[in-house]
Amino acid sequence: MFTNIQQYQAALEDFTTSCQDTVIHYLHKIEANKHLNAFTYVYADEALQRARMLDENRKAGAPPKKLHGVVIAIKDVICYKDHPVTAASKILHGFKSLYNSTAVQRLVDEDAIIIGSCNCDEFAMGSSNENSAYGKVLNALDTSKVPGGSSGGSAVAVQAGLCMASLGSDTGGSVRQPADFCGIIGLKPSYGRISRHGLLAYASSFDQIGIFGNSIPDIALLLSVMSGADDYDSTAIQESSRSYEITDSSKKYNIAYFREAVQHPSLDAEISNAILLLIDELRKEGHQVTEMNFDLLDYVVPAYYVLTTAEASSNLSRYDGIRYGHQTKESISDLTDFYKQTRSEGFGREVQRRIMLGTFVLSSGYYDAYFSKAQQVRRLLVNKTAAVFAEFDALIMPTSPATAFGFGDKSDDPVTMYLADIFTVFANLTGIPGISLPLFKHSNGMPFGIQVMTKKTDELTLLEISELLLKKHKTDQPVTI
Ligand code: GLN
Repeated sequence: MFTNIQQYQAALEDFTTSCQDTVIHYLHKIEANKHLNAFTYVYADEALQRARMLDENRKAGAPPKKLHGVVIAIKDVICYKDHPVTAASKILHGFKSLYNSTAVQRLVDEDAIIIGSCNCDEFAMGSSNENSAYGKVLNALDTSKVPGGSSGGSAVAVQAGLCMASLGSDTGGSVRQPADFCGIIGLKPSYGRISRHGLLAYASSFDQIGIFGNSIPDIALLLSVMSGADDYDSTAIQESSRSYEITDSSKKYNIAYFREAVQHPSLDAEISNAILLLIDELRKEGHQVTEMNFDLLDYVVPAYYVLTTAEASSNLSRYDGIRYGHQTKESISDLTDFYKQTRSEGFGREVQRRIMLGTFVLSSGYYDAYFSKAQQVRRLLVNKTAAVFAEFDALIMPTSPATAFGFGDKSDDPVTMYLADIFTVFANLTGIPGISLPLFKHSNGMPFGIQVMTKKTDELTLLEISELLLKKHKTDQPVTI
């Protein structure tokens, strides 16, 4: 077993392992862990066929590409041509992608092997993976606990060793929070760093593809392959793809944290203590860590839910049952009634709730009170970010107020569920990159992480600080892939 992609690829080069054996290993593990429900679809035959082809190429002396033989799972909101993409929703049951998302295209072009699509909250709306038409995903460390959401399946696929790395999407924390709950690394790059072409839209000005992995170099490698300008996404950052090679681990950083975050009443005392202790240690090592105040913290969740539901209500209007996806079997002649029936059957409760909320905040008479106000909050947050990063290299925060909770604990109370997104939505509202690093273990036995953020487009510093924190401050043993 290997602890990172580089080791695996070295073993492929000396023929001490093969892509085929590796895929067989993962397929067995996926089968043995079926109860976790991490995958919606597994592409077994195809992955094996591709593995054999790559082994042949290597034997014939073809120079290996960057992701030669790397086994990757993708969240079921990311298009992979001729494969199902359902957003874990009944409304897309039976639908297959007509084209590759840019992210998948770039992975496949570098000879990655896509092993399957991962379960998630319907249309990426949720924090626990309880909102999936395919049923809940279980946290492999304690199957009575949620894996987090919405990219819970992608997180568990890495956590349980069912693939080497996986893709999720992060609109308000859906990569970082499940990474935190599962004890792995989860990166949300800057908004626009990875093209959104072929990512099913939830809230377009927030959505970003993210990466789960076991090591920073693995994540950096995937990021360098997928990032870069794209003719199919005008919001993608107009920079050609680059490498994120981590060089300087002895550098001293200037780091900020928000007082209101570490003292927030919703934050578990052990998590808060762990962060304060880490801050002390960082100072002892010669880094500067400064407390800042952030009086807007309690506005971030309301602003996020107003803006994302507004965007979702518009984005999800395309699922009308006429052109593709689920269509009601009832014979209805009135077109509006047909739409209503199809959408009521196809969308789950949480998605319906958000479409209605979004439609409400955009309606005339309420637009100014909700939508415009939330946009103003977003502007203030962007200004705050500019002020923070004019002075500091990085910002640290908890990832989530508590460790993974039990199934059903919050599912009847959407507001409580939403409020737990308090530490993650900031990065999406402002477009900055954020990562959750699995540094700690709670006395309740569950892991928890710390979140690090840097200024927009500065993933390199983010990854360098992450590597430093994982090397010096991780308390657990390294995981194998
Ligand atoms: N938990 C958040 C929500 O429900 C985040 C979702 C996401 O990032 N896709 O909206």
